[in-house]
Amino acid sequence: MPEKEILIEAKNIKKHFPVKRGMFERGEKKTVKAIDGVDLVLYKGETLGVIGESGCGKSTLARVIMHLIPATEGEVFFKGKPVDKTNIMDFRRKVQMVFQDPYSSLDPRMSVKRIIEEPLRVHMKGLSKEEKDKIVRPVVEKVGIEFDVLDKYPHEFSGGQRQRIGIARALVTTPEVLICDEPVSALDMSIQAQVLNIFRELQKELGLSYLFISHDMSVIKHVSDRIAVMYLGKIVELADKQELFDNTLHPYTKALMNSIPIPDPTVPSMKAELTGEPPSPINPPSGCSFHERCPFATERCKTETPVLCDRGNGHLVACHLKEETKC
Ligand code: SF4
Repeated sequence: MPEKEILIEAKNIKKHFPVKRGMFERGEKKTVKAIDGVDLVLYKGETLGVIGESGCGKSTLARVIMHLIPATEGEVFFKGKPVDKTNIMDFRRKVQMVFQDPYSSLDPRMSVKRIIEEPLRVHMKGLSKEEKDKIVRPVVEKVGIEFDVLDKYPHEFSGGQRQRIGIARALVTTPEVLICDEPVSALDMSIQAQVLNIFRELQKELGLSYLFISHDMSVIKHVSDRIAVMYLGKIVELADKQELFDNTLHPYTKALMNSIPIPDPTVPSMKAELTGEPPSPINPPSGCSFHERCPFATERCKTETPVLCDRGNGHLVACHLKEETKC
């Protein structure tokens, strides 16, 4: 079988934020470890889903990979080359982002046409009106927006249409990768399905690769080829989708899966085992950061941090229960 091409590789990414004064004792310095040593790869043509509760660091990870905020440590590679200031513009042309909130991510003072053309003004300067129209027309048609309505402003569109506009804006530079940060979480269920179908169609037609971030396991299950589960700034489990669902190893992943609603009311629902809130990243628990919520925690879990280990088939897990794994 031919080797899969790696488009994006993130190595040992850390993002620590200093905590504002007033939240800690005088003279003491504290940091929030929003991301604390994340490694991942995105292969050509795949969708890598990243799941975790709000505040686990997944959106920060997306912004660090996009170089919208600097990493505290670690490096991002695109097609084997480190991304730095010499190639950042090319990287941003090839790797575009679709944001969560289609209301706040579109400038209300700009016509939709201007919004969609914005990346062309940055990355393909000097195009004539006709040249821009030639690029924009097929892109908006692909996402189901009529070219003739582009003189309108964002408030004249529904939430689902605005997210289509956000996707069109991301597509005009013919990217190879879309980093999608909770792209359907602000939408009604029926509209979510339509937008997810657009992502699927675009992937088929254009061969796009997606890093798809969501807090919703049913969405991640629907879109992903592989899934990375994040908890408190770290990946705690990563595997192919089928393997992850057939052979779930981490208690946190199990709890997230139990949160998927079962559509059949005659099937007794497995109640989510997840209790309590995620701990504060300012004062994370010692040992395994999940131990305060884990029904299987032992004394060892309170003191020793589990390492992300490979079960031998690319299924990675960080849990002391899985002692047979190779680290
Ligand atoms: Fe639970 Fe311990 Fe595994 Fe952490 S290491 S998930 S606390 S069993």
